[in-house]
Amino acid sequence: MEKWQKLLAQSLTSPDKLAGKLGLEPGEMARVLEQYPARINPYLLGLISRSGPVWRQCVPDQKELKDGHGQTDPLKEEKYSPVKGLIHRYPDRVLLYVSNVCASYCRFCTRKRQIGFEYVTLKPKDFRAAIAYIKKHQRIRDVILSGGDPLMLEDRLIEKYLKALRSIGHVEIIRVDTRAVFSLPQRITPQLCRLLKKHQPLYLMTHFNHPKELTKEARAACRRLGDAGLVLGNQSVLLKGVNDDARTLKQLGEELLKVRVRPYYLYIPDAVKGTYHFRVPIRRALKIMRQLIGHTSGLAVPKLILDLEGGGGKLPLTPKYVVRKRGKEYTFRNFEDRKFTYHDV
Ligand SMILES: *Cc1c(COP(=O)(O)O)cnc(C)c1O
Ligand code: SF4
Repeated sequence: MEKWQKLLAQSLTSPDKLAGKLGLEPGEMARVLEQYPARINPYLLGLISRSGPVWRQCVPDQKELKDGHGQTDPLKEEKYSPVKGLIHRYPDRVLLYVSNVCASYCRFCTRKRQIGFEYVTLKPKDFRAAIAYIKKHQRIRDVILSGGDPLMLEDRLIEKYLKALRSIGHVEIIRVDTRAVFSLPQRITPQLCRLLKKHQPLYLMTHFNHPKELTKEARAACRRLGDAGLVLGNQSVLLKGVNDDARTLKQLGEELLKVRVRPYYLYIPDAVKGTYHFRVPIRRALKIMRQLIGHTSGLAVPKLILDLEGGGGKLPLTPKYVVRKRGKEYTFRNFEDRKFTYHDV
């Protein structure tokens, strides 16, 4: 067993153990876990301080059960799944759902409905069907390995998937979406990096939400991935009580850049049942973006993204900068809140 597998095997998952270690009430814990599993490994446990950002994201909460809002699948992913495990929502890219396991179960997860109950990986016959589908659809040039967490699979299986995808001529880029660089950076072994390096151009998307998550271990893992020549991006979710303020996000962006990770997307939380207590209104999200844009490196600022309910797809949201338009004369409000006029052609 490798070190990361040992750490995972030592994860707290049962109500008694979780409640015991975290000083919570086991009965309440059990009720939440019946609906939504949890998994906290010793590394992650070391990061948790009571009611801190990691706690809020990883520790089960009664509020998950009291949520009368939201849907189980607001993005209608199931409707856009032509073959099992594959979501084809945009013309030239697909998302391949390779496992439903993660190193830890985020309480705000959009795929809360299907994550973590039992170990389900894509079956070999489903993988063959997905590969056949991608082969047949020549417009697909971008394949995203997602889940759950694709890095919870063993190296051998990751290698098999990457090889199969790389054998398809029209697949130009592959992305790996993972939360493990946060929740289990020990997973980013030198062997894994060597394996990923062979399949460039490969974009690895990390998922950090708070600067506190960038520990010494996580930073070292980012550096190993960067040294393997992967292009690193970060996707965050804007979460109430975790990172819904400009100061935290500015620091997160700047710290990510120091380890060569470029902030990519910042998601407005989806309207998923059991996650209402994390949701941030669009108005507030736009206000935060206004406090970021121009106030730090453009490289440190992610795009704010709303994934439309009903399967409408992703949409970038930007603060309103135009204050007036008269013929060819635009008046803008700049990042300092001063007005400037621009003469258009
Ligand atoms: C988010 C997503 C993508 C990728 O979208 P980009 O805007 O290219 O990052 C692709 N497919 C599905 C189903 C998605 O949810
Ligand atoms: S790692 Fe990703 S898929 Fe897994 S629980 Fe967290 S947000 Fe959901």
